[in-house]
Amino acid sequence: MKFIFKILLLLPGFILGQNNHLESYIPFDSCKFSSHPILEIKVWVHVLQQSAETPKNITKDSSHFIDEQFQWINKIYSNLKPPSRNNSNNERPYVKDSRIQFLVDTISYHIDSNGWERMEIVMEKDTNRWLEILEINADSNTITIKGVKNNFRPILDSLKVFGTNSNNGILHTLYAKKEGRNTVIYIKETLKVSEGREGFISYFKKVDKNCNKDNWVKFANENKEFLHVFYTGASSSVPAFGCGPSPFYLNVSKFLDNGRYATAQLTAHELGHCIGLRHTNTPQFSDLPRKDKFGWVNCNSNNVSNNIMGYNLCRNYLSPMQIGHIHYRYSTINELSLTTNNLMSNSSKIVIKKNTNWDKNILSKGTLIIKKNKTLTISKNLLMPKKGVIVLEKNSKIIVDGGRIYSPSKNWNGVIRKKGKAENKKWHCRKKVNSQIVLLNNGEISY
Ligand SMILES: [Zn+2]
Repeated sequence: MKFIFKILLLLPGFILGQNNHLESYIPFDSCKFSSHPILEIKVWVHVLQQSAETPKNITKDSSHFIDEQFQWINKIYSNLKPPSRNNSNNERPYVKDSRIQFLVDTISYHIDSNGWERMEIVMEKDTNRWLEILEINADSNTITIKGVKNNFRPILDSLKVFGTNSNNGILHTLYAKKEGRNTVIYIKETLKVSEGREGFISYFKKVDKNCNKDNWVKFANENKEFLHVFYTGASSSVPAFGCGPSPFYLNVSKFLDNGRYATAQLTAHELGHCIGLRHTNTPQFSDLPRKDKFGWVNCNSNNVSNNIMGYNLCRNYLSPMQIGHIHYRYSTINELSLTTNNLMSNSSKIVIKKNTNWDKNILSKGTLIIKKNKTLTISKNLLMPKKGVIVLEKNSKIIVDGGRIYSPSKNWNGVIRKKGKAENKKWHCRKKVNSQIVLLNNGEISY
């Protein structure tokens, strides 16, 4: 009987498989907010305008769009929907509230056409990259260029021909094929007979700065205390797009050309990349489906998930392990914890009202109070925010058992011992009953 019970207890861990360490970081509905606090990531929004006259972006007068975006994004993260389909274990694991929120701390406006432009189609100006014309043949309506250009697919299929006797100008390609050591391009327009100088071809190319860090360098000085979101633009005719290559910045372009809720969904996805998630076409964690069909189709119970990290039209689910992974990272990697909300406020108090053992990393906020006669045991890391403080009430105890209490920002205010009233009055004639700090197994408190 006892044996069977033990097997049942072990079963969930067995099913979760290789990502066991994440389990204690998953904020199941029954988890307390003291042990599984809301992870608040500080966001600095930068709006890049093309010019003062034609901003082609949000303006100060339309900054409510930004508030609306983050209200939607936070709603998506706090009100997740159940998964549309079973995962590889034939289950539908579900946590409603990821306890991950994005706090817009600051909004800046910049007029900068380079920063605004994330995708443009430009003529290749580097003459070394131009294509050398060997022959123009009016009979076959082809231009032969030097070298094998296997991947030669000019953007917009447009070429600009220079230096010929009678065929200069913009021409359009039908197709190109290899011929010996050269490439023959079939042209749409009728070519004229050409003799003598044969000239060069330049072509249009796509310049994609979607994932570049240039704006983060220029406008944020590579600051790592916020997640910088750049609302940018693009002169090429594409729908809204984004790229979140770093925990410290992301670009979202053509915001105003898209449905506003669609942009919030897009941004929720890109933010997912920033905070550590990959696409779901191949599973990052064992509680995700083995495959996920991508292609801007509606989610279904068969092969298209509703995962935020998929390419589906629903984007309203994250698996418990995806969520646990984010909480694990932000309470384990010091550099990331600095982008979280570390401001002291009354609402960010953690109060320990009964004996508690934290055997996971905890990203504390503001003040941590251990009530009278209670004990808090720390066996992993407790990360204290800037100006954070631990208050020990009378006869309370903090035990650091093999763990560590410290602040990644290196300026927390340490442990304060609160004295009881009776103790203050006649402490000289009483046996002192005080709070205790106990360090076990190389446990450490660093100021
Ligand atoms: Zn993506």
